[in-house]
Amino acid sequence: MNLQHENLKLANWWKTAENGKLVCTLCPRYCTIGNDQAGFCYIRKNIDGKLYSLGYGRPTGFAIDPIEKKPLNHFLPGTEILSFGTAGCNLGCTFCQNWSISKANLDTINSLKATPEDVVALAKKYNVPSIAFTYNDPVIFGEYVIDISKLAREEGIKSVMVTAGYIDKEARKEVYKYIDAANVDLKAFTETFYRKLTFSHLDPVLDTLIWLKNETNVWIEITTLLIPGENDSEDEIKQIIEWIIKNLGNEVPLHFTAFHPDFKLADRHATPPDTLRKARNIALEMGLEYCYVGNVHDQKGQNTYCPQCKSILVERDWHSIITYSLKKNLCPICGKKIAGMFK
Ligand code: SF4
Repeated sequence: MNLQHENLKLANWWKTAENGKLVCTLCPRYCTIGNDQAGFCYIRKNIDGKLYSLGYGRPTGFAIDPIEKKPLNHFLPGTEILSFGTAGCNLGCTFCQNWSISKANLDTINSLKATPEDVVALAKKYNVPSIAFTYNDPVIFGEYVIDISKLAREEGIKSVMVTAGYIDKEARKEVYKYIDAANVDLKAFTETFYRKLTFSHLDPVLDTLIWLKNETNVWIEITTLLIPGENDSEDEIKQIIEWIIKNLGNEVPLHFTAFHPDFKLADRHATPPDTLRKARNIALEMGLEYCYVGNVHDQKGQNTYCPQCKSILVERDWHSIITYSLKKNLCPICGKKIAGMFK
């Protein structure tokens, strides 16, 4: 690819190392990057002693998805969301379900060109109330996220991060400045899993979740993809739930989703639906108010129930809404306030 670097976006988060190389300070990987090389995520590159964000303005494609597909069940349920990602990723998940883009660099994938103004105009054209940075991890195109979400907010459009939460403590204050909601993966509860299967670490993810909850107004939901034999023991599931309740409260929705054999874990079997149902039951028994199952057809596990009177508030079939009885954010039967952002 013949890059005209004067047209590229200078990256926000980097410094020069003593050996003349650059250190990217956007995520806890802190890649040291030599001249003409890119970081682990492929799309942050040292060109003549400056770091550039190659993903800026280069989506791999757009889709209009139901917001439930992100998954977000307590943020404008039943609405559509303009969704896109770029090439690359800052994690190295061996089970990646989107590896054709997360493991691609801009040389190998046919990226589009879209300015922040183009993206917001697209959301307005299709009359969708929100935009999702998704498919790969949007942390790696943080500059683009900031410019789009700032513009979107000016136009009354919400912005959503779908992310693994692996981001530097300083950078996150800027990247999340105009973000309204996030679905954050909590991929497991052991450092061994994070190190071996994602090439990242658990603690920064937990730290991001606590920061989002305590220091921002971002609405958060959590997703845990259950992989047979790796993170689906009852003990680990209980540890995840216990940590969420203790550190984030019992109103944060948790989604247990099914793994499908893919990428480097193509030899494993898919998560049995019963594993997901059991995990959901454990969460509800332990006191989490909202827990869902995903990637399998399970209506009961996809509905939103009032945690107080148990009536169905939002009835779903896959990602479609069948009935919707919430009155703004109140249960119409017992009046309990339901956590989230509702129409
Ligand atoms: S954002 Fe990319 S280049 Fe920067 S530290 Fe993380 S993986 Fe490395």
